[in-house]
Amino acid sequence: MPLSPDQRAEIDAQRASPKPTLRAVSEGMEAHLYHAHEVLDHGFVRVIDYMGDDAAIVQAARVSYGAGTKHVSNDEGLIRYLMRHWHSTPFEMCEIKLHVKLPVFVARQWIRHRTANVNEYSARYSILDREFYIPAPEQLAAQSVVNNQGRGEVLTGEEAARVLEMLKRDANTAYDHYESMLSQEGQQGLARELARMNLPANIYTQWYWKVDLHNLFHFLRLRADAHAQYEIRVYADAICKVVADWVPIAFGAFEDYRMGGATLSGKAIDCVRRMLKGEAVTQETSGMSKGEWREFMGVVNSPE
Ligand SMILES: Cc1cc2nc3c(=O)[nH]c(=O)nc-3n(C[C@H](O)[C@H](O)[C@H](O)COP(=O)(O)OP(=O)(O)OC[C@H]3O[C@@H](n4cnc5c(N)ncnc54)[C@H](O)[C@@H]3O)c2cc1C
Repeated sequence: MPLSPDQRAEIDAQRASPKPTLRAVSEGMEAHLYHAHEVLDHGFVRVIDYMGDDAAIVQAARVSYGAGTKHVSNDEGLIRYLMRHWHSTPFEMCEIKLHVKLPVFVARQWIRHRTANVNEYSARYSILDREFYIPAPEQLAAQSVVNNQGRGEVLTGEEAARVLEMLKRDANTAYDHYESMLSQEGQQGLARELARMNLPANIYTQWYWKVDLHNLFHFLRLRADAHAQYEIRVYADAICKVVADWVPIAFGAFEDYRMGGATLSGKAIDCVRRMLKGEAVTQETSGMSKGEWREFMGVVNSPE
């Protein structure tokens, strides 16, 4: 269960006592504050706090450009200009603080994003809950035969049932041993910091994660991408929905230039120019490797 009744009551109480402020407020973000957006079987993402809005990005940019911004007729035009030209510091003026509950193996990928501030639940200090990520049947897939870092066909029938049963049994057995090592009934009981060693990577942890909008976009660009592992992508997708309501103009520019856009190499641009002139360019005549050509074709060909 992502949230206990006590946690739900705490969120309701927080939302029931709004305070007046002179600070910039994003109406879209206010609707998200404290709510838990459920992710996977026991996880969630919820906004604990935020700073700034689209106007804060524009305000910071106008400090650096001053009168020079007059030719940019509106805020949206300026934000799109900043995104297009990788002028990133104005986006760092906005911050977000999230409370995230996630499986440990997802946390290991997430923590690689070093440009954030993190405070994690301490399994030295506290006892972890018996909560494990067990994939939904449609996520129980075989190793991809074309991508070493990916999944292929979904497992079915007896094999799917056997794998699910092993995942559940292993998790519960490990947790039974964890509890039994901690127990002080008739024994000294092993320290929490040691007993946790046998717990599997699908157990849930929690953290507060604070990051500025520029680095959040970098995280989302990598983790909301189709190449990211499903289990982290669903968190990134949930955060995208929040960011779209928080800074709609900046998010629109991010979706267009980063998520929807593509970077072309010099060779790729040369190929586009030759194609526009009517030349039938092939991988062999492109100067690109097979992998580069496949990716280039993925950009220039419309999806089926
Ligand atoms: C699909 C995918 C597959 C991956 N596979 C692997 C894998 O197999 N093995 C693996 O180890 N990792 C893997 N990663 C993690 C990846 O290599 C990055 O560590 C991760 O995406 C964080 O990116 P980042 O360093 O740009 O982000 P951040 O740490 O948030 O940094 C943002 C930017 O700040 C700058 N920066 C931050 N810290 C430093 C620093 N100390 N020195 C210099 N510049 C810095 C860099 O410009 C960096 O791009 C994978 C990531 C993805 C998305």
